[in-house]
Amino acid sequence: MEIERHQYDVVVIGAGGAGLRAAIEARQQGKKTAIVCKSLFGKAHTVMAEGGAAAAMGNVNPADNWKVHFRDTMRGGKFLNNWRMAELHAKEAPDRVWELEAWGALFDRTKDGKISQRNFGGHEYPRLAHVGDRTGLEMIRTLQQRVVALQQEDYATHGDYEAYIKVFAECTITRLLKDGNAIAGAFGYRRENGAFIVFEAPAVVLATGGIGKSYTVTSNSWEYTGDGHALALLAGAKLINMEFIQFHPTGMVWPPSVRGILVTESVRGDGGVLRNSEGKRFMFDYIPEVFKAQYATTEEEADRWYTDQANNRRPPELLPRDEVARAINAEVKAGRGSPHGGVFLDVSTRLPAEEIRRRLPSMYHQFKELADVDITAEPMQVGPTCHYIMGGVEVDADTAASSVPGLFAAGEVAGGMHGSNRLGGNSLSDLLVFGRRAGAGAAAYVDRLQRRPRVNDESVAAAMDEALAPLGRTGENPYEVHHELQRTMNDLVGIIRKEDEMTEALEVVGKLKERAKGVGAAGSRVYNPGWHLCLDLRNMLLVSECVARAALTRTESRGGHTRDDYPGMSPEWRRKLLQCSLSPDGQTITVEEKIQPQMRPDLFTLFDKEELAKYVTEEELAEYDAAVA
Ligand code: FAD
Repeated sequence: MEIERHQYDVVVIGAGGAGLRAAIEARQQGKKTAIVCKSLFGKAHTVMAEGGAAAAMGNVNPADNWKVHFRDTMRGGKFLNNWRMAELHAKEAPDRVWELEAWGALFDRTKDGKISQRNFGGHEYPRLAHVGDRTGLEMIRTLQQRVVALQQEDYATHGDYEAYIKVFAECTITRLLKDGNAIAGAFGYRRENGAFIVFEAPAVVLATGGIGKSYTVTSNSWEYTGDGHALALLAGAKLINMEFIQFHPTGMVWPPSVRGILVTESVRGDGGVLRNSEGKRFMFDYIPEVFKAQYATTEEEADRWYTDQANNRRPPELLPRDEVARAINAEVKAGRGSPHGGVFLDVSTRLPAEEIRRRLPSMYHQFKELADVDITAEPMQVGPTCHYIMGGVEVDADTAASSVPGLFAAGEVAGGMHGSNRLGGNSLSDLLVFGRRAGAGAAAYVDRLQRRPRVNDESVAAAMDEALAPLGRTGENPYEVHHELQRTMNDLVGIIRKEDEMTEALEVVGKLKERAKGVGAAGSRVYNPGWHLCLDLRNMLLVSECVARAALTRTESRGGHTRDDYPGMSPEWRRKLLQCSLSPDGQTITVEEKIQPQMRPDLFTLFDKEELAKYVTEEELAEYDAAVA
């Protein structure tokens, strides 16, 4: 069977914000770079991002700076973040946003002509650089334009647009290839015709995004089957923080065909409020102790905040997402939900219709077209939806390198930056900061190599056999297995978790793994979604098992991991990370505890001791005293 082969220095898997920024960096450092993506070029989650990119530029409130952003990020992640990543992110995000502007991004403006910044949950100051509610689209447009500009430079120099950077769209990678312990390339297939393709490359950057398709109700689209997470595991890398999944508080709940589709947090940032069936603004009842000092306790104060942020505390609708999602869940469970099983999100009584259409054009259209609801005249009905995974490939903060030589990861597929919960807007900035670092890390790795690793024929043959196995097999329908997995994760490892339910989920996942070995798809290799799903199932099952095992192990509630049987954060777990790895035979997932390195004293002392006491252990407070002494 003929196989298409290509040689590159760096192969970037994924063409969202992280992948594109990594590829641009690798090419700028002189590396021959391939960008491979599962769907069309330009179609990635990044394009769907609405609210904006968080960067402490201080354009709207000059009191903002990287230290405030760092503190907000650590609070949001309940101090489980890789603090070095959070530091780099807070320091470098403004430069990455300005760089985008220099490459042609047209951000919304303040009256005095600076990049405008909007409020978002968990951010102390208005911080999200945005383009209406279509920020991700502008980001991708700009990064793609930069890729084209580099290709034009290459044409001028080498007479070939694709001499140094080439896009392979609608191409799914199913295996990373190794030479000994090191990365040697990647194997995949073209979705259009099923042709196999081998990339020979010493460095691979994973930028494959999230895992949402393992859940029934999700804001994620079809590509998000945890491929990068699984590819990393299968190549011997470790995943961390897999128990932490963000359920965005506001997904559409109606009609059923669009259940889970995101309703941007900007609706709340721009004044929208949450009410239950009794018309009550219930979020005032759900302000946790650790956040009491920063959030308004009356509607009057909360409303004044929109016009006078210096003298009032923030509305509780803008608490971090995990808090709001849990509150909505509790209201619905208590019988105070909306007719379709969510709560009401109202912007219609808060802003003039024209203003709503100007500030939230996509939301206006989304509800009008999908639910026949005019959000300028009536409230939306919303509820939690599986949105984002904080867990991912364990990487070095500065270089984005995993523990496997030659393997790098950036964006949603990487773990650590967001700790137990990500603040809205911190993903788009994460993609830019760590995408660039991953591209640079991969380029530097290639420069240091004494010998280029070789792809061996046996591993290519094994990858090909694995890919071909379900084709033509009269086995089980992959859609059945997928639906059962989604239901299991949604109902048993969802927003509120219990030991017996997670144990049951693991039993089901174990059985589904066996059934998945026998799934089959009729038809040929020419565009065959059933066959593609058979291959994606391996990834979803691996990732789901990691999520369930880690969630079962962590006997506390923190950020995006809520245990009904262990409510509240436990000091015992404060510095423990859970690391997942896969046995060499690919059969067993192991979860191990790892102690998070202590924060550098200069970062630690950015916090007030009183606040730290809410999060950290007695021992750490003693270290704090020593640092400030
Ligand atoms: P993605 O943009 O998800 O791209 C992943 C890429 O990997 C795609 O090109 C895909 O085709 C490719 N891929 C996957 N598997 C394979 C494979 N096996 N082989 C080849 N290619 C593969 N964050 C914010 O900060 N602000 C927001 O306002 C915001 N709004 C959001 C709104 C929605 C509806 C959603 C879903 C997310 C939102 N987020 C937001 C989160 C943020 O958009 C994502 O976390 C982020 O875009 C992920 O970027 P990424 O570069 O890591 O991956």
